[in-house]
Amino acid sequence: PSADMAAFKELLSSSKHVIAVAGAGLSAASGIPTFRGAGGMWRKYDAMSLATYIAFLSDPSRVWQFYHYRREKALAAQPNAAHIALAKFSIESIRKEIAPDATFTLITQNVDGLSTRALEAVQSALPAESSPPSQPQILEMHGRVLDVLCTSQTCGHRVTDPTSPICAALGGTEELVESGVIEPIVDKADLPRCSQCGDLARPDVVWFGELPHHIPEIDKLVDKATLCLVVGTSSMVYPAASYQKKVREQGGKVAVFNLERSQGDSEVDFLFLGPCEETIPQALGL
Ligand code: NAD
Repeated sequence: PSADMAAFKELLSSSKHVIAVAGAGLSAASGIPTFRGAGGMWRKYDAMSLATYIAFLSDPSRVWQFYHYRREKALAAQPNAAHIALAKFSIESIRKEIAPDATFTLITQNVDGLSTRALEAVQSALPAESSPPSQPQILEMHGRVLDVLCTSQTCGHRVTDPTSPICAALGGTEELVESGVIEPIVDKADLPRCSQCGDLARPDVVWFGELPHHIPEIDKLVDKATLCLVVGTSSMVYPAASYQKKVREQGGKVAVFNLERSQGDSEVDFLFLGPCEETIPQALGL
């Protein structure tokens, strides 16, 4: 693959339907640990014992402890230069009108909500009269760790973005999680409960074996994409990992932005190795 930034920029400026598929590496510079890669959390933990509904049912206290930790991390973090550049680009691409029907959509696997927060920050800094005619799009395909969902099939109440702590009993367990030992220390009765029906609540994230959000919409975007940016993902979690392959098979181009090489990199058009908080603002010119 090429590392020619000027050639990439030229391609970007003439591409009509662009998607970016992002992963944990996008938020690494914001202090949120990745899963795989250097320092990744799955080196300490077995994913199947924390990120499945079966794991949650068998030990909700342990799973909540892990997600409470990730929730606190997300709440304390700030969007970095890559989130901001992608947010600006999604606004610019609406205004620039490469073609009247040109599109750019960020499809993120991240559950930290940082891309959406970056977009809100960029939008609120715009003068009122310059707001773009349509809403820029960010699709959070694996949900959000800040949201909470009732586990009762008949209720299913969802609390979006609660700002207050959801479970005082879970506080102060950061050291345990960081040391790699998660002992269930909170009684099931003290775990977060649904505010409507009182049933056990869960983090509103997509676990292994569950269907990601926005799939029909994402499939349509992938089908028509002419350029796919792949940002900070190890491309090992499906279906997100299949999008770049699909775009290429239909004649589109793929550009990868990652700290290190990963499988499938030989089949891409551009490869920019390095921290995406540097390469993305450079590549987007923002
Ligand atoms: P991953 O941990 O498997 O891979 C992260 C990738 O990012 C690695 O390839 C690594 O080399 C790269 N990377 C690390 N720092 C980088 C940087 N500064 N710049 C560019 N690249 C960098 O993550 P994944 O592919 O997103 O898959 C993991 C799954 O875990 C996803 O489903 C996601 O929902 C979830 N997850 C989310 C978060 C989050 O919300 N921030 C964090 C961890 C995991």
